Amino acid sequence: MIELSAFDAAAAVRDGSLSSGELFEAYRARAAADRAAGEDGLNCFTWVADSAPDRAPASASGNGAPAALSGVPLAVKDLFCTAGVPSQSGSRILAGYEPPYTATVVERLTEAGTALLGKTNQDEFAMGSSNENSAFGAVLNPWDRTRVPGGSSGGSAAAVAAGLAPWALGTDTGGSIRQPASLCGIVGMKPTYGSVSRYGMIAFASSLDQAGPLTRDVRDAALLLRHMVGQDACDATSLEFPEEIALPSAERLDGVRVGVPEELSGEGIEPGVSEAFQATLARARELGAEVHDVRLPHAPHALSAYYVLAPAEASSNLARYDGVRYGLRAADADELLDMYTRTRHDGFGAEVKRRIMLGTYALSSGYYDAYYGRAQRVRTKIAEDFRAAFETVDFILTPTSPTVAFELGERTGDPLSMYLSDYCTVPMSLAGIPAISIPCGLSEGLPVGLQIAGPAFSENRLLDTAHALERALSFDGSAARA
Ligand code: GLN
Repeated sequence: MIELSAFDAAAAVRDGSLSSGELFEAYRARAAADRAAGEDGLNCFTWVADSAPDRAPASASGNGAPAALSGVPLAVKDLFCTAGVPSQSGSRILAGYEPPYTATVVERLTEAGTALLGKTNQDEFAMGSSNENSAFGAVLNPWDRTRVPGGSSGGSAAAVAAGLAPWALGTDTGGSIRQPASLCGIVGMKPTYGSVSRYGMIAFASSLDQAGPLTRDVRDAALLLRHMVGQDACDATSLEFPEEIALPSAERLDGVRVGVPEELSGEGIEPGVSEAFQATLARARELGAEVHDVRLPHAPHALSAYYVLAPAEASSNLARYDGVRYGLRAADADELLDMYTRTRHDGFGAEVKRRIMLGTYALSSGYYDAYYGRAQRVRTKIAEDFRAAFETVDFILTPTSPTVAFELGERTGDPLSMYLSDYCTVPMSLAGIPAISIPCGLSEGLPVGLQIAGPAFSENRLLDTAHALERALSFDGSAARA
């Protein structure tokens, strides 16, 4: 059962060869065992359901037919609000917080038939690239338990890779779906900004945050995304996706023009990653794709701009955690200001404090133009670079991460080296365009990810291209589920 893709599991439930209760229990038992194992487990989950939801979801048509996703269990990153279920965004300041409402995207997936399996561990407020910034402990990489799973959606990625969940929801602000997918040898997709509602997602940087699927294969990513997209009256930045997300079927890439930007594929990429990337380009050519050089001249400045803009937005979004409304409140404070400062002192971890300080500084009067304004201008330049590149090519290919999964603790003392993990993924986030990571090989026994990015709303073509490559590469991720 565990070896079935989510698509196949849903089909088996629909044709009656598998019961949704059995399927749920198989995953629930695996997820609960990992949680119960404590330090001996992967630490993927911060909460696991006790039992399957009572009622099998019926299709919205009201004809009693089972819903499309047939009770397939879904793991959900901690930062999605789920009514009556802990939603803590990996932070001590929200420890035990149970929201009164559910995020739109989780609501939609429930209506489509998924069953909430558990909430997954993550970097605090989604700030990180290794899942070591969680108040609930680090997550381990199922390929090698001495290594990180990537972040910030590390719990979701590791759970899917290890077969503790058939698929999962993550969020990506600068790479947090794609980079952990890459490090764990699974598929992760960040959709076009605005295509999925952010309502009920505990905010990090609102102009960048976007929910997306983490799955074992590209077809599952398409299937999950199909039921996530769409306008939501509760999120003014959401819009109607122009077409239905189709299940990918392409096997060839004839006539597809792909561009490889020197800026994101040359210097700084680990040799083993480079080798797998070059081999993948050769496969793309064999499938009929034309591979071209393209330029993204401002991409090398993306990280600098991101680390002004994301902390600026975070400093504003995180101002709401004051001990009054949600979660933690410091005891024995003398007066109100003291209560605020003690709560924030005790509740936030070091990385979150660093970002709040950076962001507050960047937005302070007298510096606003020099930092925030300038970073916004760089962001525009980066979006223009992509627009120009997409006049000559259909997609852009890069490695997803410059390195394979690194050792636990290796980068925690050096924030800059940690930030470099997102070197290849941040430009697409700033431009708001969709990008997918698929596993494309191994280096030193660890997965390497290929990133494919396309113009806004090119999801269907992007998924097709990823699917054709996935077939040709036939990556085997079963070792991580052993
Ligand atoms: N690693 C990046 C950061 O720490 C991106 C995180 C994310 O995409 N949520 O900000």
